[in-house]
Amino acid sequence: MDNTPRPLIAGNWKMHGSNAFAAELAGSLSDKVSNAGHNSFDMLLCPPAPLMGSTLAAIGAASIALGGQDCHSAEQGAHTGDISAGMLADAGCSYVIVGHSERRADHGETDDVVMGKAAAAQTAGLAPIVCVGETLDQRDAGEAIEVVTSQVVGSVPDGSSAGTIVIAYEPVWAIGTGRTPTAVDIEKVHGAIRSAIDGVIGNPGQVRLLYGGSVKAGNAEEILALENVNGALVGGASLKAEEFWAIAQAC
Ligand code: PEP
Repeated sequence: MDNTPRPLIAGNWKMHGSNAFAAELAGSLSDKVSNAGHNSFDMLLCPPAPLMGSTLAAIGAASIALGGQDCHSAEQGAHTGDISAGMLADAGCSYVIVGHSERRADHGETDDVVMGKAAAAQTAGLAPIVCVGETLDQRDAGEAIEVVTSQVVGSVPDGSSAGTIVIAYEPVWAIGTGRTPTAVDIEKVHGAIRSAIDGVIGNPGQVRLLYGGSVKAGNAEEILALENVNGALVGGASLKAEEFWAIAQAC
């Protein structure tokens, strides 16, 4: 029996779109998911917060989950511009991305900060997608595995288990660049993450480990077939219904 975790194909729209765009993209994916009937993957859309209502409306009854792109670690309070995990849950989300490298770089988020956000997400009933990944300098220095596994251990809240957390390996230098690590390198890092979460996350073999960084229709099949790759976190290619669907079909 195949005991690998069910793949998750997640689209991170970042700061793109409008209500009209969200309605069209989510509507088109909703049709595809519904028409396909049985799908061998879970699909997740992470639009910007103001577009969640129109995205959810367009998803309708289709089996597509909604997620946030970030959350605050506090339940509520004087944090202008921030969004709590509870608010995301209330808006219909079941996941939230935390620790994306763009947040780590733009907002100086450390592993401790990311862990606080992930814990808040779990308290609100959301599964955090904890992002980790090395810079090009770190890879060139041969430090990729050390950096990534240390981010994982430093960002995952105590008491996490396979059903309450997702990890996304996203090499910083591969995001939005069209460059990807070799298949061997992706497998090495994913294997190291799987080992690193043993004893840290309950039921480690069932934790979904996503790969992210320039995943496209053209490389999805090869990447998604790799050992310990249980789905993809997709940026640019998730903004086009046909391409995102083709990625999901590669599962
Ligand atoms: C991302 O930012 O999460 C990402 C994977 O982006 P892209 O697919 O565009 O590289």
